[in-house]
Amino acid sequence: MNHFETRSGDLYCEDVSLAAIAAAVGTPVYVYSQATLERHFHVFREALRSHANLGEPLIAYAVKANGNVSVLRVLGALGAGADTVSEGEVRRALAAGIPASRIVFSGVGKRPQEIEFALRAGVAEINVESEPELDLIAAIAERLTLQAPVVFRVNPDVEAGGHAKIATGKAENKFGVSFTEARRLYAKAADHPHLNPLGVACHIGSQIIDLTPFEQAFSKMRGLVETLRAEGHSVERLDLGGGLGVPYFNMPEPPSPADYAAMIARVIGDLDVQLAFEPGRMIAANAGVLVAQVLHRHERPEGRKFLVLDAAMNDLLRPAMYDAFHDIRPIAATNAEPEPFDVVGPVCETGDTFTRDRVMPSLDSGDLVAFMSAGAYGAAMASEYNSRPLVPEVLVHGDRFAVIRRRPTYEEMLADEAPADWL
Ligand SMILES: *Cc1c(COP(=O)(O)O)cnc(C)c1O
Repeated sequence: MNHFETRSGDLYCEDVSLAAIAAAVGTPVYVYSQATLERHFHVFREALRSHANLGEPLIAYAVKANGNVSVLRVLGALGAGADTVSEGEVRRALAAGIPASRIVFSGVGKRPQEIEFALRAGVAEINVESEPELDLIAAIAERLTLQAPVVFRVNPDVEAGGHAKIATGKAENKFGVSFTEARRLYAKAADHPHLNPLGVACHIGSQIIDLTPFEQAFSKMRGLVETLRAEGHSVERLDLGGGLGVPYFNMPEPPSPADYAAMIARVIGDLDVQLAFEPGRMIAANAGVLVAQVLHRHERPEGRKFLVLDAAMNDLLRPAMYDAFHDIRPIAATNAEPEPFDVVGPVCETGDTFTRDRVMPSLDSGDLVAFMSAGAYGAAMASEYNSRPLVPEVLVHGDRFAVIRRRPTYEEMLADEAPADWL
């Protein structure tokens, strides 16, 4: 459930009409519902809490899905931690008031300065993805004379379905170490005076709509925890990653958080570990929309009809990058007959096509539309490609709204470009 609903035919976010936001801020613009963000976090946490044997897990929201500081503040206030993949994201989480003790630092390639920053900040754990990285963390921790809390990201080698670009849990992917490597590295870390191995982690992919790969991966992780303990190690933490799919319009229904939690309670409930989760999409996707305006409607002689929007692939990359489907809804009430349209942006690439032959109410220039389910991996992946200023973001709370990231001016866009001194 989310808080985007039609009232007398007009589309609202909570108690604010999207047309009012478009009029005040201009288009394209992302709009997020605070109530939906909060609801998704609660649903996820309550599903886990309903199983006493799962303890009180750390829910480290994956900042990369939507890292706006206001979004992080909303979640942080509810007790969320943050799963981060760069120093920039650690800084975002800290700026939003999320304590370092709830921040997980993940990622395949961390630079030395980033590791140092995270260690000094006192993050809860650094998720290690390779032996060279472990050695680097050890050396930095030694120089800083502290103990680095490390968790090994393991690649459970399962097929997680979804789009190939977001599957991460197969041995052939770049992510994590093998089980054998994890055992060797755990022992190595346990012997090192500046490393504190806390546990193991996995994250098998994104938009997973079937519990089977999760269950396969989590059973394997259970086996690993037991093996490590049998080898004399203490394993306090088990980080199960993110990846739970969300209901995108027209797509197969993902498992509910309740079913996901019940499976986890069954598979690892008696393991006596502190659990961590890293949900991103599940929290943010259906909490946001991208509002755009139709610039032109035109028809090819052979009959194909186009809607050219003022939003483009630089603002919402998912259709071009992942063939993602977004429901596109008119914002104003309409009785127009549905017709098939190709909905495109103005960028000079054929890939800048949001959808082809989509049957939707007939629209014309000036009309507003909303791309639904755009709260995750939307604004976060936006760029200035084609020198289009970064798309702004708005947060709605009841009958109020605030611009939480404004649209940069053209002067700001050019400000960092100093011509070479010989030009
Ligand atoms: C991307 C990512 C997540 C979040 O994935 P979602 O599908 O958005 O839940 C969690 N953990 C890691 C390590 C990631 O890379």
